[in-house]
Amino acid sequence: VIVGVARETAAGERRVALTPETCRKLVAAGCTVQVQPGLGAGAFFADALYAEAGAALREDALAAADLVLCVQPPPAEVIAALKPGATVVGLLQPQADAARGQAIRERGLLAFPLERLPRTTRAQAMDVLSSQAGMAGYKAVLIAAELAPRFFPMLTTAAGTIRPSKVLVVGAGVAGLQAIATARRLGAQVEGFDVRPETREQIESLGGRFLDLGVSAAGEGGYARALTDEERAEQQRRLGEHLKGIDVVVCTAAVPGRPAPKILSAAMVDGMKPGSVIVDLAAETGGNCELTRPGERVEVAGVTIAGPLNLASLGAQHASEMYARNLYNFAMLLVKDGALAFDWDDELLARTVWPERTAAGA
Ligand code: NAD
Repeated sequence: VIVGVARETAAGERRVALTPETCRKLVAAGCTVQVQPGLGAGAFFADALYAEAGAALREDALAAADLVLCVQPPPAEVIAALKPGATVVGLLQPQADAARGQAIRERGLLAFPLERLPRTTRAQAMDVLSSQAGMAGYKAVLIAAELAPRFFPMLTTAAGTIRPSKVLVVGAGVAGLQAIATARRLGAQVEGFDVRPETREQIESLGGRFLDLGVSAAGEGGYARALTDEERAEQQRRLGEHLKGIDVVVCTAAVPGRPAPKILSAAMVDGMKPGSVIVDLAAETGGNCELTRPGERVEVAGVTIAGPLNLASLGAQHASEMYARNLYNFAMLLVKDGALAFDWDDELLARTVWPERTAAGA
C-alpha cells in the first residue's frame, strides 16, 4: 500500500494528518509512505523527522497513492488527479458539498469521511470529532480568558480581594467538558448545562455546577435532538435571567447535521454586564448566540462576542498528534498483509464510507 499525504491547503489549517510517529507505525505495518515536503510545517514537524520515520519526501506524493490521508477535503483539482480506485480518509465534510461527492464518484474513489464514523466504544480510538473537540474547548476558554477584563481565579492580595469570574459553558459534549475542566484549572467558578440529562454527573465530576434549566432532550445515538418551541421558550426565559450574573459564556451546543441551536438571543446579551465575554465555538455552524459573526469579534453594549473558527488548528501540534493517531487506527482497519482490503461486514467501514454503498455493491 502506498500512503500519500499532501500539505493542507485550506486557509488557516495548520494541522496535519500524518505525524512522524504515525508515519513510523505505517511503515512498520508494511506501507510505503510518501509525503510532500513541508507537510508538517504548520504543526512544527520538520521534514527530516518524516524522512527518519521512513517516508519518501516528494512533491508528487499523491500521484501513485492507494491511501490518501488528509485533515480537510482535498481541493477539486487534487481529487481529479488521484489514482482511480484510491481511498481517501479525513474530515471530508460530506454534507457541505454535493459536488465533491459527485467528483469522488466520477473518479472512482472510495472516501471515508470520519465525521460519519459511528461513535461506538470500538471506534473511540478513531474518533477525530472527539479528539479535535477537546482542543477546541480548551482554546475557547483561553481566548475567553484573554478577552475578559478580569481574572478567572479568586485572589487575595494586598490590594484587596478579587472575586473569581463566573463562567457558564453552554453544551457539555466533548468540547464543553474540556472547556469546563480548563476554566476550573484557571480558577473560575464554572457552571455548565446541556439538554442531555447524563451531563449533570459529568459536569459535576469536573468541579462544575450543573445549571438546571428544566429542559431535557436526549435524542438518538447519545446526541441531542432539537427542542420543541415550548421547551426552547422555557430554556430561554430561565437562561436570560441567569446570564445577568455571568462574566464569561463559552458556547459549544450542537445538533448533528443541523445549524447550531440559537440559545443566546440579542435581548439576553443586552441584559449581561458590560465587560462580559462570549466565545462561541459553535460559530462554525452559525453560532449559539444570535449576535455571533463567524470568524469575527464584535462588541455589543460592552459585551465582547467572539466567533472563532477552526480552534483545533490553534493547537496544531497536539491536535495533529491525536488526529494522526485516530487516522492510523482507522487505516489499520483497511490494511491487511500489506494490501488494502475492505471488510464491508465491519460497521465502522460500512457506515462511514461515502457516497453510501448501494445494495448492488460499490
Ligand atoms: P455535539 O458537538 O454534537 O454537541 C455538543 C453538545 O451540545 C452536546 O452535548 C449536546 O447535547 C449539546 N446540545 C445540543 N443542543 C443543545 C441545547 N439546545 N442546549 C444545550 N445543549 C445542547 O456533541 P459531541 O460533543 O460531539 O458528543 C455528544 C455526545 O456524544 C458526547 O458527550 C457523548 O455522550 C457521545 N459520544 C460518545 C462517544 C463514545 O463513547 N462512543 C464518543 C464521542 C461522543
